[in-house]
Amino acid sequence: MISMSRRGTLEAGVSIMAVVAAFVEIPRPLVERWYSTGLYPLVQHALTPVSNLLPFAWLDVMLTAAVAAALFALIRAGRRAWRERRLAIVLATFGHLLAVAAGVYLVFLMLWGFNYRRIPMEERLILDRAAPTTDAVLQLGLEAVRQINELHGPAHAVGWVSDQRQNAPLRAAFEDVQRSLSDATPAVPGRLKRTALGPYFRWTSVDGMVNPFALEVVANPDLLPFERAFVAAHEWSHLAGYADESEASFVGWLSCIRADVPTQYSGWLFLFWQVNGEVGTEGRATLGAALGAGPRADLNAIVERIRRGQLPQLRHASWLLYDQYLKANRVEEGIRSYSAVITLLLRARFDEGWTPVRR
Ligand SMILES: [Zn+2]
Repeated sequence: MISMSRRGTLEAGVSIMAVVAAFVEIPRPLVERWYSTGLYPLVQHALTPVSNLLPFAWLDVMLTAAVAAALFALIRAGRRAWRERRLAIVLATFGHLLAVAAGVYLVFLMLWGFNYRRIPMEERLILDRAAPTTDAVLQLGLEAVRQINELHGPAHAVGWVSDQRQNAPLRAAFEDVQRSLSDATPAVPGRLKRTALGPYFRWTSVDGMVNPFALEVVANPDLLPFERAFVAAHEWSHLAGYADESEASFVGWLSCIRADVPTQYSGWLFLFWQVNGEVGTEGRATLGAALGAGPRADLNAIVERIRRGQLPQLRHASWLLYDQYLKANRVEEGIRSYSAVITLLLRARFDEGWTPVRR
């Protein structure tokens, strides 16, 4: 029982590798070169097209299989332990499951997770403006208001496609933005899928996520048409290896605003929402007063969607968990990094048409 079987050696090896991978410091330029712009694009080009073929989410299949397998192993061990009156059998099974988890973590890192350790956007771009003042943030918010007021009518007249992969202007813009940010082969856009986790997304107000094991994107089923374009662009940016939330929003936003009118509207609406959350009561009043009736109705529809769906306690717990996950992946700001998108927009140098300038 105690002697190191081959399985035991393998499990110990995998566990040690996982601990090393979690804690060892790999220089970011190395991750950028060998992983994010080297191995990872190959993985993404292999996995996302396959996941796009399937109408259902791999995530659901994987989660169901994982839970079923873990339960099966534990129940079988529990019964044997009971029969033989040896608790050690259950403990050993826990040990095996931990080793499996370590292996899953290593696969996560190889398929997507190392992107958390690539060169951050602040080091990728020229930042030549000072940290934004409250007024600068408010001005950006007012620009967003001006844009959504202007774009609302034309955007609604055209409408939004339900599958954003058919949004040719967004696809082209997404490719341009990626090329302006790195030398990697641009990512394959993913199909926004429904998932069995849909109700959970609804209760916790999550818009969408990437399944790192299949490089597919799943979304909240309640998203309104004018939200979906930006959410797609945000999730595609994760697929492009921008793991960090603010970076995915930054890349997604830059893509939206250079696409067609309905997509631009979706992007500016996101930015309004983002700024509105950070300018305080007085700023919100200023922005609110400038809003036209059309955008106001759309924003109210979003608020209503969130209010109807969410379970505040669960939402709180879930975002705390996500915060822990981000910190475990060395995103020190945790979920606060969402607002870093505003800092990036206000500090980075842009050429004509919001084209970011690389170092
Ligand atoms: Zn995200």
